[in-house]
Amino acid sequence: MGKITVLDEQLANQIAAGEVVERPSSVVKELVENAVDAGGSTIDITIEEGGLTLIRVVDNGSGIEDDDMKMAFFRHATSKLKTGKDLFRIASLGFRGEALPSIAAVAKVECLSSPETTGLGKRLVIEGGKITVYEDANTPQGTDIAVRDLFYNTPARLKYMKSIQTEIGHIADFVNRLALAHPGIAFTLKHNGGLLLRTLGSGERLQTFAAVYGTSAAKAMLPVEGEHPDYDLRGYISKPELTRANRNGITVVVNGRYIRSFIINQAIMQAYHTLLPINRFPLAVLEFGMHPSLLDVNVHPSKMEVRFSKEPELRQFIEECIGNVLGRQRHIPGPAPAE
Ligand code: ADP
Ligand code: MG
Repeated sequence: MGKITVLDEQLANQIAAGEVVERPSSVVKELVENAVDAGGSTIDITIEEGGLTLIRVVDNGSGIEDDDMKMAFFRHATSKLKTGKDLFRIASLGFRGEALPSIAAVAKVECLSSPETTGLGKRLVIEGGKITVYEDANTPQGTDIAVRDLFYNTPARLKYMKSIQTEIGHIADFVNRLALAHPGIAFTLKHNGGLLLRTLGSGERLQTFAAVYGTSAAKAMLPVEGEHPDYDLRGYISKPELTRANRNGITVVVNGRYIRSFIINQAIMQAYHTLLPINRFPLAVLEFGMHPSLLDVNVHPSKMEVRFSKEPELRQFIEECIGNVLGRQRHIPGPAPAE
């Protein structure tokens, strides 16, 4: 008898959960990204106790078809990727089909969803990976998913959670950035009954920026734009007078995905060069569009790290676009450009 066996589905999900569901903000990220992928115009997020007792995300997107509802909680079940080729031109935020089964393995999940405007849909309850309820339900078009008692069956993970304040800080940071990435979607974020963010979804990025950072910061932003055969760039950067003590005020969005990129941060800093005081950083929200084949998002389970295939060109493009805007500011004193 050999010693190797294939892990059963539930155990495999729990192990995957170790990677995908690090803390409450990872759950928020996965659920909100699903809501964005579903293409709705509003996303309402309700959090209790830093996400440890409740994370609920309600969208008015495409909803989940009856037959797909149970499937969605299976490992590697996704509607976003069909063939190997798709992996090299990913347009959606999700694609691994790991989030829902991983979350359901370490929490109590209730999902209501309907693809119809008639209000006919399904309700599914799954706890610790086991489906306990699956029934017809009256629910508006879209998806309403609630995750309760996160890590209730993985006490070791629960023990490592930081304070409620720290966890909601991570959650708010993520939602703020995703809202900046999607100014056309109206977001709300509530924690223990208090409203932390409301964006209008008007499509005006500066309006979303003002909702996140305040109106006076929004007034100190300069529009930046650029075109290149491989990339385009739109967004805002702060006048050199408006700085912060860290890089957290920089939000980079590539094809609708909020990412972290050392390369891009470096190019931004290079463009400001000596305009910034030492150890001070600008505020920026930069959205890049590029052909999906020019970036690899399949680097890390969080999909937050990406690789670019034409790095030096991208770096130069950024330095030029931002440098132009800042250069104009420096050499032609006068009223700030229209906002
Ligand atoms: P992925 O996003 O990588 O496809 P998930 O486990 O996050 O994997 O979700 C599995 C599937 O469930 C998705 O591919 C999608 O078809 C469906 N789904 C999940 N959330 C939603 C939602 N809010 N609206 C519509 N469909 C959803
Ligand atoms: Mg997903």
